[in-house]
Amino acid sequence: MQERLYNGKTKLVGLFGYPVEHSFSPPMHNAAFAALGLNLCYLAFNVPPTALAEAVAGARAMDWLGFNLTIPHKEAILPLLDEISPEAEFLGAVNTVRIVEGRLLGYNTDGEGFLQALRQGFPQLNLAGQKVVIIGAGGAAKGVAFQLIKEGVGRLILANRTPSRAEAVVNALNKIGGAAAAIPLAQVAGELADTTLLINASPVGMYPHADVPPLVPQEALPPHLLVCDLIYNPPQTSLLQAARRAGCPTLNGRGMLLHQGAIAFTLWTGHEAPLAVMAAQLPD
Ligand code: NAP
Repeated sequence: MQERLYNGKTKLVGLFGYPVEHSFSPPMHNAAFAALGLNLCYLAFNVPPTALAEAVAGARAMDWLGFNLTIPHKEAILPLLDEISPEAEFLGAVNTVRIVEGRLLGYNTDGEGFLQALRQGFPQLNLAGQKVVIIGAGGAAKGVAFQLIKEGVGRLILANRTPSRAEAVVNALNKIGGAAAAIPLAQVAGELADTTLLINASPVGMYPHADVPPLVPQEALPPHLLVCDLIYNPPQTSLLQAARRAGCPTLNGRGMLLHQGAIAFTLWTGHEAPLAVMAAQLPD
């Protein structure tokens, strides 16, 4: 790790999670702070659910620049905040907080992070009017779906193991102008012939269970289909391997991880994030 000198003016940015030991955010943000010569320090704190309010009060009292939240605090933080962005309100989840003159302002950068990663990986892709299928209906699926609707996708299909959860998300999406529908997970294969983008927003295939078969078999993947997996460990999930064999373009979750962090960096510092510096701290 790069050597840094801190002094009486150093400001803190934190991560509250439980656990946090394996987070990539501290090296990613500290490398970015160092690259821009910012007198800031990012540290991760293992905060059990019962201590979140105390931890947040401490951050406010110590005038931190802000903090990130990860599992299990993304929803529990909401009543502790002074303001939340429209996206975070829609999602009912916050992953980034700015502290401005003692006020706590909450954001959710996951969905926009995914979209920026997609734009970076596939600059020619125009999703307006296109059909997108998302597997999953959890926090990540909802965040990505929210952004895709803002992007003007034509038809959004959510396929989830628990159908009622997908239906609840679809109802919420359609209230903000989406044309979304829920289908059973078993019907995904039949939807793909006219689909532009397939996104796995479930943890199926994630370390340490990387050798499970993909939720969609290779035979169901037409070669025009762009296949994304939000998982970044392993970098090539069983779904992405199947997609590559089927001749499909693919994208893993590393870019989303990078860009959600880059958006948070800009919210805190007001500076454009040094993407290459931050990316160098992430696993390949
Ligand atoms: P979550 O809120 O717990 O939702 C998980 C979703 O996956 C639910 O819809 C769940 O279905 C479904 N699921 C879980 N196990 C399944 C199984 N065995 N078969 C079929 N479906 C299953 O989790 P999340 O926060 O949305 O995260 C989802 C994935 O996105 C994780 O792999 C996470 O690592 C990844 N992610 C990546 C980034 C990034 O920066 N790259 C950011 C956020 C999340 P039920 O409703 O039936 O339980």
